Amino acid sequence: MTLAASLDALLAATDVDARLAADPVRFAHRYEDPRDIEVAALFASQLAFGRVASFARPLDLILAEADEAGGPYAWIRGFDAQQPTVLATLNYRWIWPGDFLAVATGLRRVLEAGPLASHFRGDTAAEALSAGIGRLADELPSPTRGMTAFLASPRSGSACKRWCMFLRWMVRPSDGIDFGLWTHLSPARLVIPLDTHVHRIALLTGLTERKTANWRTSEDVTRALAAIDPQDPVRFDFALAHLGISGACTGAYEPSICPECALTTLCRVGGARRRTRQTAGHTKKPARSR
Ligand code: SF4
Repeated sequence: MTLAASLDALLAATDVDARLAADPVRFAHRYEDPRDIEVAALFASQLAFGRVASFARPLDLILAEADEAGGPYAWIRGFDAQQPTVLATLNYRWIWPGDFLAVATGLRRVLEAGPLASHFRGDTAAEALSAGIGRLADELPSPTRGMTAFLASPRSGSACKRWCMFLRWMVRPSDGIDFGLWTHLSPARLVIPLDTHVHRIALLTGLTERKTANWRTSEDVTRALAAIDPQDPVRFDFALAHLGISGACTGAYEPSICPECALTTLCRVGGARRRTRQTAGHTKKPARSR
């Protein structure tokens, strides 16, 4: 099976509704107003590290406060770090209350200057992200470790998985997963959000040979996908990521999963086992005929 046919088969086999329940984009799907979606998506994407159950707790608390204030956009536009807020009590991994307060204040100032999309300008994902992240960074005090996690930029060479995911949600056409809110950037210019699952599966299936998960590797994987769909190369991202997030693909041969995997003919693990079995069968046949 070709790479294109395998990836299309993987997309077709992905239970989108079930996987959405385990995807951070579900927090943005609570809203209908594009401005609410943008703010909810920004927080959801930037906290999307670790297990979903872990980052769901701070996101639920943040969005509950936002909903009481009239929705995420109204909440952030009226945000005042001097007033009581749940952000002053939150920490998640290395993001501390002071980081949450600074980011919310910075985002309020960014939105005062114009719609969020207007700050993410550029002809490429790298340009748009560097501009938008740089604009937010300009509104923040000296970065702490937590803020640095928010502000990883393509300029630093980082894969920027969470920002690439945010941009995918905003730019790709509305399909029940992504929102298609930002039309100033073509989906053709997006770069895949290279999380640990996507990187592992990309290595297994020959989408890249690059072992380091950085911006250049994200571009390398995206180029390979663009050879299949130049207009929308990252449309495969959701299915590739959830093949790993679901626990189906661990990178090791699993006899109950790999033979049925849509990528098995391409995969160095699944395909190698299949070829080994075929070869073994081929060599046994003449022996039986003697
Ligand atoms: S064949 Fe197995 S190891 Fe290879 S991508 Fe599929 S699930 Fe992962």
